[in-house]
Amino acid sequence: MKFNTKTIHGGQKHDPAYGAVMPPIYQTSTYAQSTPGGHKGFEYSRTHNPTRQALENAFASIENGNYGLAFGSGLAAIDAVIKLLEPGDEVVSTNDLYGGSYRLFTSIFKKFGIKFHFVGMENAHNIENYINSNTKLIWVETPTNPMMNIIDIKACSQIAKKHNLLLAVDNTFATPYLQQPLDLGADIVMHSATKYLGGHSDVVMGALVVKDKDLADKLYFIQNASGAVCGPQDSFLVLRGIKTLHIRMQRHCENGRAIAEYLNSHPKVEKVYWPGFENHPNHNVAKEQMNDFGGMISFTTKGNNFEEAIKIVEKLKIFTLAESLGGVESLAGHPASMTHASIPKEEREKTGVVDSLIRLSVGIEDIHDLIADLKQAIG
Ligand SMILES: *Cc1c(COP(=O)(O)O)cnc(C)c1O
Repeated sequence: MKFNTKTIHGGQKHDPAYGAVMPPIYQTSTYAQSTPGGHKGFEYSRTHNPTRQALENAFASIENGNYGLAFGSGLAAIDAVIKLLEPGDEVVSTNDLYGGSYRLFTSIFKKFGIKFHFVGMENAHNIENYINSNTKLIWVETPTNPMMNIIDIKACSQIAKKHNLLLAVDNTFATPYLQQPLDLGADIVMHSATKYLGGHSDVVMGALVVKDKDLADKLYFIQNASGAVCGPQDSFLVLRGIKTLHIRMQRHCENGRAIAEYLNSHPKVEKVYWPGFENHPNHNVAKEQMNDFGGMISFTTKGNNFEEAIKIVEKLKIFTLAESLGGVESLAGHPASMTHASIPKEEREKTGVVDSLIRLSVGIEDIHDLIADLKQAIG
């Protein structure tokens, strides 16, 4: 089955009870048993729920994996991955990282004795400088947030295999429409399904997909034992979102390209970060591992003025000033004061998150309206 068919049919079967074409919302916490243990595969909804299971099968299908797991948020999904580790273990992580992931690693898991190294991975060989006998996991985000750096997943997987480490890829920005990390050698793919997979800014959810059965069993155990699952209604909404992922992504990419080019020619704009430009440092890797370049763009304005950046985002009318990304509507954010405020200024500036940086999640509205909006806001 090709990707554009998998988004609609992958892992799905019509409901066995009445043949419902769409999986019903099984809004139940428990399931009747005829005799102790005599059930139809479902005992309690933290462990299994038919609507969630339909979604988990869809996750597995679109990421070319064998096992999917749905969580109450993207961070809950990451939390489950780190719980595979033991005190004393070490993780080599991308340095330009989603702020909440950084906070989870440094404010929660550090105190349980897990050590994180935050490393520039644009040259994957740099990872090897941080690997020792305690290293267990490489954590990769690509494109990175918000600098749109590209990390070579295949090169990372070769390093992971050589040192017998797990490789996990946060695929939130790219989505499986653009890149399929498991096919490039990753062991775990993670999503904030809150973003493009859900696609309509109405659900918070996380996902993991793996190929390996032993790894899946360990993660299912953690999912059930820690209990950060999502509800059936949210599962239904994300399942519905996935059905249009391919057509939404196609438009996100088209609009993204037009806006990146517009900003690049704007006299007040200093620099545009978008992997589709030939002069992007890892454009060739992006071309190799991605099918297109997506709708996430960051840019800075000349003079690097904090107040001016705030004024621009306040003036936008069609772009909504908001955290998050990946919905049908265009959003704008100011990372230094919003998504990355939890990262110390010194740390964030090292990775390029300067005061004038503005991040756009380009939606699927009419491109002329979007460009006109940027024009009136930037001036
Ligand atoms: C939003 C996001 C997360 C966290 O997901 P939540 O659903 O908000 O918990 C993790 N990684 C990336 C890249 C994100 O954009």
